[in-house]
Amino acid sequence: MTRLVVAVGGNALAADGSFDAQRRTVAETAESLAAAVDAEDALVLTHGNGPQVGNKLLEVAAADTPDRPLDVLVAETQASLGSLLGRALDARLDRPVSTLVTRAVVDPESSAFANPTKPIGPWYTEEEAADKPFETKDVGEGERSYRRVVPSPEPTAVPETGAVDALLEAGEAVICGGGGGIPVAPEDDGSESIEAVIDKDYTASIVADAIDADRLVFLTDVDYAYLNYGTDDQQALESVTPGEVRGYLDADEFGEGSMGPKMAACARFAEEGGEAVIASIDDPAAALHGKTGTTVRLD
Ligand code: ADP
Ligand code: MG
Repeated sequence: MTRLVVAVGGNALAADGSFDAQRRTVAETAESLAAAVDAEDALVLTHGNGPQVGNKLLEVAAADTPDRPLDVLVAETQASLGSLLGRALDARLDRPVSTLVTRAVVDPESSAFANPTKPIGPWYTEEEAADKPFETKDVGEGERSYRRVVPSPEPTAVPETGAVDALLEAGEAVICGGGGGIPVAPEDDGSESIEAVIDKDYTASIVADAIDADRLVFLTDVDYAYLNYGTDDQQALESVTPGEVRGYLDADEFGEGSMGPKMAACARFAEEGGEAVIASIDDPAAALHGKTGTTVRLD
């Protein structure tokens, strides 16, 4: 049996407009995923929450109700987005689906807290961004290229991987690590909040390692990782080694807080002997069967 970890981008799951649009996007994703997963593959699904958790921060700031810290908002998106995905997938997949609310252990002293890199929430023009009472960065193309950024330390462990493994052994599919997981300190007892949003790409590679996955597949809103991305001579990467990926990361080929974490996660997983893929969410079957996208493996 092949163990598969699939990570779906929060941006690819985002929907402008009504909540019905969000439901439809989730249902379409569940539909195409269920059709793409082979009966003999064990499945773990993780998902991002960048747009959704950024919107929650704005809602909390505008509301006349008590403030809630970022770790709690991440947990809320695991419950809302993760359970919607779980319900949609459960109805379409050949096995039960459980959605877990999970943590991600980080170092509270990490230098990442002094350099926010994770883009969340809506996109702004340069003028709009300058007026915002929070930190923004120019992270995209075109006129609306600015987004709020928050610290995103690399996680070191996901405490719930034993439960994930047990559910897989019981024949279930598992959704976990949503929004990267609730950031916690190693000695956490729930009494303190860490203000960060973990990149689900790193969390997915930790979960994939812990459950001895064979393949780690990132479904996102681009069809490949590119060199010279966004220029006239951008070049799609089809098959690369973790060593090559490390070189490209050092040369800043991949966006900080977007493609960078994905490629770093792929390199980490491939170095342990697994195969990692980055591909478009438009065709999960092609991505899961290695017919498209950027593949990272040892040779
Ligand atoms: P996800 O929600 O799936 O994690 P991200 O926005 O974090 O998606 O990462 C995907 C984005 O990375 C793409 O939409 C693209 O704009 C950006 N990106 C940055 N550098 C590259 C690159 N070198 N190749 C492809 N995409 C890149
Ligand atoms: Mg991302």
